[in-house]
Amino acid sequence: MTKRVYIETYGCQMNEDDSERMLRLLEGAQYSETHEPQEADLILINTCSVREKPEHKVYSALGRFKRLKENRKTIIGVAGCVAQQEGERLLDRVPYLDLVIGTQAIHLLPELLQTIQTKGQKVCATELDREGKYLIAPRPQRRRGKVKSYVTIMQGCDHFCSFCIVPYVRGRERSRPSEEVVEEVKHLAAIGIKEVCLLGQNVNSYGKGRGGELDFPVLLRRIDEIRGIERIRFTTSHPEDLSEALVRSFSELSKLCEHIHLPFQSGSDRILKRMHRGYTKGSYLERVERLRKACPSIAITADVIVGFPGEEETDFQETLDLMAQVRFDDLYSFKYSPRKGTRAAEFEDRVEDSVKQERLSILQSMQKEITLQKNQVLEGTTQEILIEGQSKQSDQDVTGRTRSNNIVNVRGDVGLVGSLTPIRIVKGFPHSLRGELLCY
Ligand code: SAM
Ligand code: SF4
Repeated sequence: MTKRVYIETYGCQMNEDDSERMLRLLEGAQYSETHEPQEADLILINTCSVREKPEHKVYSALGRFKRLKENRKTIIGVAGCVAQQEGERLLDRVPYLDLVIGTQAIHLLPELLQTIQTKGQKVCATELDREGKYLIAPRPQRRRGKVKSYVTIMQGCDHFCSFCIVPYVRGRERSRPSEEVVEEVKHLAAIGIKEVCLLGQNVNSYGKGRGGELDFPVLLRRIDEIRGIERIRFTTSHPEDLSEALVRSFSELSKLCEHIHLPFQSGSDRILKRMHRGYTKGSYLERVERLRKACPSIAITADVIVGFPGEEETDFQETLDLMAQVRFDDLYSFKYSPRKGTRAAEFEDRVEDSVKQERLSILQSMQKEITLQKNQVLEGTTQEILIEGQSKQSDQDVTGRTRSNNIVNVRGDVGLVGSLTPIRIVKGFPHSLRGELLCY
């Protein structure tokens, strides 16, 4: 008899892909997915600890699931960055928790569950795996209506930005062998996937640390050659490692979509130095110029942090100035959140929360205006979209993305899912576009 698993995922695309891989491993152990926690035999919370807010969500989620444990013998587990960071402490703090599974122990999930079931023990697996087995998972099966997929090509990070917990909870950089990645993408093409998004904390340094024998632009070229794959994306890129060859890829590879996510974090050289980012405002702007020269239609999105320790008003103005010069297509903005164990958590010149909040609001309203203007500029143009599914807003609409990663809603039926379709943009909104099919 099959059992049911419910997974709740917080954080970045990396976590989404880890959850997907855990599901595949569990399918092999006779579990099927449910979206109803009360039906589940196993509940997994895949967590994020990059900032305080998502970290706290794990405790409120566990609180919600406690009651379910009282009614049936549900196994409850915590995976991801909080699991890696807290380890055994989580089992002590939450008595009804059965499993803590770290970021490099995913491949062990079926056997850990076996131990819990047969021996009735609680289990904590947070050892780092030097062989990189955690990067492998069974191949996905064809799923109706699924047209795009993540492909993790590397994990961990060697950059040690002073604010960031990732190198401590995801370990050092490790790339997957290129053959393995290429084979996985071929398999995805064979089961109907049209778009792949290559994932890593810093994909530009693919092949530089352990594992992986090619550099990233060469890997992209190999993937561009795979029949059936129509679109390639990747995330995230670190500005320090943005090579000329990667910039050229945007003009040379037909399947590589015209979008790059290139976090800048701050526009102040003084703050960038304290963040240990390895570039200046000037060199970031130069990279943007090179990207736009190689590919004039490229969309550029980024991450930014406000209220990093020691950030003065003049530093914040530098950030606004960088934004005004680049005019990002979209921006993910965060208030600095001290993370225990990182270098910046020791800095004493912290910025008041009220100041962080005010800076965040100023920055977000500036970006909202820029994004809206950029979306409105697209009105009247023709764009190619990959139709991904029914729109959440209306069952008469389908939704998809342009090559530059804008969400577009158009009138049409689900039979169109999976097609690459030219559409005319009729209206630009703050977060999406409205389009019309040209050949409907
Ligand atoms: N590897 C990516 C890079 O170098 O840009 C980013 C990965 S990180 C998981 C995603 C984003 O979270 C970062 O770009 C940064 O803006 C934000 N972030 C990381 N640590 C943070 C912290 N302590 N406080 C606030 N935001 C943080
Ligand atoms: Fe964190 Fe910096 Fe690594 Fe990105 S590059 S994951 S921000 S340490």
